[in-house]
Amino acid sequence: TSVISDRINAMQESQTIAMAKMARELAAQGVDVISLSFGEPDFQTPQYIKDAAKKALDDGYTFYTPVPGYPDLRQAICDKLQRENNLAYKPENIVVSTGAKQSLANAVMSLVNPGDEVIVFSPYWVSYEEMVRLAEGKTVTLVGSLENGFKATAQQLEEAITPRTKLVMYSSPCNPTGAVFSREELAAVVEVLMRHSQIYVLADEIYEYINFEGQHVSMAQFDEIKDRVITVNGFSKGYAMTGWRVGYLAANKEIACACEKIQSQITSGTCSIAQRAALAALQGGRTSADEMVEAYRRRRDMVLELVKDIPGFRTPKPSGAFYIFPDVSGYFGKTTPEGKTINSAYDLALYMLHDGHVAAVDGGAFGAPNCLRFSTAAADEKLREAFIRIKNSLAKLV
Ligand code: PLP
Repeated sequence: TSVISDRINAMQESQTIAMAKMARELAAQGVDVISLSFGEPDFQTPQYIKDAAKKALDDGYTFYTPVPGYPDLRQAICDKLQRENNLAYKPENIVVSTGAKQSLANAVMSLVNPGDEVIVFSPYWVSYEEMVRLAEGKTVTLVGSLENGFKATAQQLEEAITPRTKLVMYSSPCNPTGAVFSREELAAVVEVLMRHSQIYVLADEIYEYINFEGQHVSMAQFDEIKDRVITVNGFSKGYAMTGWRVGYLAANKEIACACEKIQSQITSGTCSIAQRAALAALQGGRTSADEMVEAYRRRRDMVLELVKDIPGFRTPKPSGAFYIFPDVSGYFGKTTPEGKTINSAYDLALYMLHDGHVAAVDGGAFGAPNCLRFSTAAADEKLREAFIRIKNSLAKLV
């Protein structure tokens, strides 16, 4: 028997982190590894945000912060939601947390009872399933088809709903697929949910700014369901602030209070300096993000060109985020030069790491075991080199 609780023993280690660890170990042995496994902007945080953090220290922001965030930051988040998303919220609806990850976890813990079903649009971000497991809920996945750009449909949702369904979770733009839900697609989802008043929606909009096509649509913009939607966003992706750990959610007051309660017992308010920096980030608008998005778009286009030359990669064009997510099942059953059979995307990821020295993540971690996820948040030359190596390694499979 283990000294560790059943709760934690039942939990999976994050696959993205496991792959990055393997890549780092190879690199430590002197191997020139190109890691495309991490979902992290390769840009520095913009200077004006760094300056605000330095000033916060000099101004004495070194004390405990209010649990749901500084009042002026919560107001600035309301202003952002109004200005950019046409969403009216008051500061009492906003809870600032230690990354969007904590916002998501707070919301799941606040809403899910043991045995409740949580419908997750799949492919999904790795942590959703583990958060639901921690809350003793049951994940029900809706698998989006390759033909539909990996987007689950309202009809699939309708079929998956049971009296135990409590919550629906999705990200748009989506990690890992880069899919963006259109207004029409979300409207169809809302129409289904209007017939089931017990169901809430957790809308993860952390990649909002990294959108190459079309407009970002928030589920909460549909007035008839707004009260049942929890919108999560943050600073990690759009402002290149992954290490600062600031995210937030907007929800009805009852849910926001529950999130504040759990946060008050587990972490307290997030870092004072990071919150002052986040306030400055919002006051600077989205200009810095727009510059980064141009680079992400250029890289997406470049990588899509490069993968056209790789047989057996079926890659829908991502509309946002910074990943490509090819279906690689065409390689299953092939044999490596060492005589090993490739039986899964995980086997293929290991082969590519050891033969081509390129790290990707197995889609199984995202509910899509036929796929691999490659981050395109890397320098152009690195991306070019990586996909040449991949092509050469794959060509050796028979
Ligand atoms: N949601 C999605 C879909 C993500 O990809 C990530 C980060 O990888 C997060 C949430 C968490 O972001 P944060 O750094 O704000 O915790």
